Amino acid sequence: MLTLYNTLTRKKEEFNPLQAHTAGLYTCGPTVYNYAHIGNLRTYVFEDILKRVLQYNGYTVNHVMNITDVGHLTSDADEGEDKMEKGAKREGKTAWEIAEFYTQAFKQNLKDLHILEPNIWCKATDHIEEQINLVQKLTDKGFTYETSDGIYFDTTKLADYGKLANLQNQELKAGARVDLGEKRNAHDFALWKWSERSERHPEGDQPKSKRQMEWPAPFGAGQGQTRMGFPGWHIECSAMSAKYLGQPFDIHCGGIDHVPVHHTNEIAQSEAAYDKPLANYWMHGEFLLVNEGKMAKSENNFITLETLKEKGISPLAYRYFLLQTHYRKQLNFSWEALEASQTALKKLQQQVESLPDHKKQDSWFKDKFNEWINDDLNIPNALAWIWQAIKEKDITKETLLDFDKVLGLNLDAKEETIVIPTEVQNILDARLKARTEKNWTESDRLRDEIKKLNFDVEDTKEGQKINKL
Ligand code: AMP
Ligand code: ZN
Repeated sequence: MLTLYNTLTRKKEEFNPLQAHTAGLYTCGPTVYNYAHIGNLRTYVFEDILKRVLQYNGYTVNHVMNITDVGHLTSDADEGEDKMEKGAKREGKTAWEIAEFYTQAFKQNLKDLHILEPNIWCKATDHIEEQINLVQKLTDKGFTYETSDGIYFDTTKLADYGKLANLQNQELKAGARVDLGEKRNAHDFALWKWSERSERHPEGDQPKSKRQMEWPAPFGAGQGQTRMGFPGWHIECSAMSAKYLGQPFDIHCGGIDHVPVHHTNEIAQSEAAYDKPLANYWMHGEFLLVNEGKMAKSENNFITLETLKEKGISPLAYRYFLLQTHYRKQLNFSWEALEASQTALKKLQQQVESLPDHKKQDSWFKDKFNEWINDDLNIPNALAWIWQAIKEKDITKETLLDFDKVLGLNLDAKEETIVIPTEVQNILDARLKARTEKNWTESDRLRDEIKKLNFDVEDTKEGQKINKL
């Protein structure tokens, strides 16, 4: 029996899918205006473990992940700049180029971390029509109102607004203390915003849009007319999950910060539009912290997977580091812990390599493993138990490789994969040049430099071969 913690009910529940042997899974994807940081990636690793555990239990998983490439503003209160347009200005490129570049970088991160790709990727900008239709439906049903900057969802029209975050009991009165602007209630949120336009030139020039990404929609315009605008952040997930998974579907996931705003608003829109639940299980991964604070792109304390690689930490060592802590617990980042994870993973791979290959019945090990992973994805205990089984008991390589379908740690690594830090690579490049120029003194000096960084270089027929000391 697989049990999962459901944020909606605040308890562990047995997983009962809508359709036998199938699980519909929607995971909120990245906003592609910058590299993902390793905090973001913690959330995607947690979701990958969930997906692998579902598959290990025999479910076919229909996994949909969106790419947010429009409408996510710098403030969750529907104000500030569109993150995509901001990214475009920062890099002197178009918002479309920015989206494409960081989408590819994100997909590479997933590959490096052995995160299984979703069955369906969907971009917000490819689903504008679906989003307009959903806003129209909400308008027809009386859930929206218009302000001078867009169409807003009136959260007081929905009896159970905020149920995911228990907002009813906590802070619905917050409106008394915040500046609402034209919003009627503090939690109301934008479904569609008009494009801001430049002033009309006195000589009659047409006003120009201040945005690169905008579309015509029937909102805020006269009968039969359109006005340029763009979707609010939340509406894309409601529109695309309904399109690809139907409503309701089984499991919806994201980081813990999505509970009070993004997921709360997705639920409001979807349930108001279709009078049925959006998803049956809501699961959220806790944050990665740096010095006890949240790692965030806006905090300037963020580390990417590339930075880890430059320092000689492999992405899978980072994955191992994450698997040692339960997804619902906060986790503090430290370089020392990452180094230790890298060593532990290497040792685990070596242990697996040295185990006997022979097949034998060890269903007892599998039962124990299943018990842990099916208890709300208790991977830390599963891992600890694997170490114990290796040390004290007669577990086979075959069984461990079977467990790796869940862990995704490349346990059958035939050869050790070394990540070469950039600093070492630069010296290697210089040494290659010195050797091409037959400057043997310089070549030897550079070998010593490399040694100081705990690597050893060997000259083979195939070229320089690097080993970790
Ligand atoms: P974004 O690209 O900003 O939309 O965020 C992508 C995902 O990363 C979301 O599911 C966030 O909830 C999650 N996230 C953001 N910061 C962190 C963090 N420090 N630790 C774990 N997950 C995070
Ligand atoms: Zn979402």
